[in-house]
Amino acid sequence: MSEIVRPVQHILKAEDTLEGAGVRLKRAFGNGEVPLFDPFLLLDNFASTNPREYLAGFPWHPHRGIETVTYMLEGQVEHEDSLGNKGRIDGGDVQWMTSGSGILHQEMPQRKEGMLQGFQLWVNIPAKLKMGDPAYRGLTGGEIPRVQTDAASVKVVAGSFQNVEGPVRGLPVDPTYLDITLVPHAAFELPVKRGYTVFSYLVDGEARFEGRDTVVPTKRVVLLGDGDKVRLNAGRPGARLLLVSGRPLHEPVAWYGPIVMNTQEELSVAMRELRRGDFIKAREVAEV
Ligand code: MN
Repeated sequence: MSEIVRPVQHILKAEDTLEGAGVRLKRAFGNGEVPLFDPFLLLDNFASTNPREYLAGFPWHPHRGIETVTYMLEGQVEHEDSLGNKGRIDGGDVQWMTSGSGILHQEMPQRKEGMLQGFQLWVNIPAKLKMGDPAYRGLTGGEIPRVQTDAASVKVVAGSFQNVEGPVRGLPVDPTYLDITLVPHAAFELPVKRGYTVFSYLVDGEARFEGRDTVVPTKRVVLLGDGDKVRLNAGRPGARLLLVSGRPLHEPVAWYGPIVMNTQEELSVAMRELRRGDFIKAREVAEV
């Protein structure tokens, strides 16, 4: 069987969005795009040199039914949650948080000279595991392996690249999460699983994907059609991009703010429990 290079299906521009208590960020995709990126629900890119655009942060709020993945490139975010985790996410660090049945947390960017830049990706959880135990992975930059070739530098958060496996493993949607930096005009290829959802977000520079002459500039998300591999070339300035893939769930999505379930009834239950004070089912941290 001949291998199919994944074609470009959609190119979306990240849109200015106000989130949390007043954080200005770029939303690559979200509620309006369901189910295009299944099992991924949302990708936000915050990037600012102005503390007034981010200091309000994301004060205490709940999550249920999803995983939130925070990846900082520069700057710092203080976080604290109902599982007892408390700490700082620095440039290069990743926090992979499985809310399961429910957590409460806050995520507060700290004032710092220069740039605050990072991402939050929401990964959906299959229906049968949505009310499972929460789990928390806090990874420092040093714990994330990097593969260096002549043309590319690849940080492997989840999944693998050239037989180097990332530290985030054993998740239901079998995610790949790579941060790829390419020298100008570098060619890049990655085998991916047929049937999985694959997208790329251009952090910096520009890239051209196989089969499409369009040059994709910064702050665009590219959703690829089905196939066995991703093939792309960095443009003249080089490129930095996230490449993410996962097994789609093909389940109904009922979404209200930070809670994503399968039915309206489950959302109503969550709201009732939040009012009543029995939203949190587990306070023990399942450290993985
Ligand atoms: Mn949150």
